[in-house]
Amino acid sequence: MPIYEYKCNACGNRFETLVMGSSTPECPSCDSPDLARLMSACGFVSKSSGPGGETRVKSSASSSSCAGCSSTSCSSCGVG
Ligand SMILES: [Zn+2]
Repeated sequence: MPIYEYKCNACGNRFETLVMGSSTPECPSCDSPDLARLMSACGFVSKSSGPGGETRVKSSASSSSCAGCSSTSCSSCGVG
């Protein structure tokens, strides 16, 4: 399911939400529909830095990358 990240233009709140079809989400904080859609959220692929601040990057490209991404241009999950 597509998860999109939005930023509310009214109050600046950032949130992620599932978007079904062409439904338009509203800000959960102020109910404003004035939202700016950000990149697809790959928030579940965390850029966790290991002990010592070492950032580990998956090198196996065969593994499924990001459940939230249907494209290969997600910079958050390092694909593409
Ligand atoms: Zn808002």
